[in-house]
Amino acid sequence: MTRADYSRTCAGCGSVVTEDWVNGQKCFRCYEPGQTCGYIVGIERFLPYVPAWCPKMGGCLRPPERYEVQKK
Ligand SMILES: [Zn+2]
Repeated sequence: MTRADYSRTCAGCGSVVTEDWVNGQKCFRCYEPGQTCGYIVGIERFLPYVPAWCPKMGGCLRPPERYEVQKK
């Protein structure tokens, strides 16, 4: 059984594209082919639990719920 490694981020996986986000922020999407291709892996900074579903970083776990933006 493989456990998620929460100590890493998607940074350096080679498939991350930086895109414009709201309020002048930047978001990062990982386009590594697979179930989770195109998922947002961070906003302004990389989220540490992301590689749990990034195939390139040894993830391949079940995709998480779609990332929802908390709008105020
Ligand atoms: Zn990735």
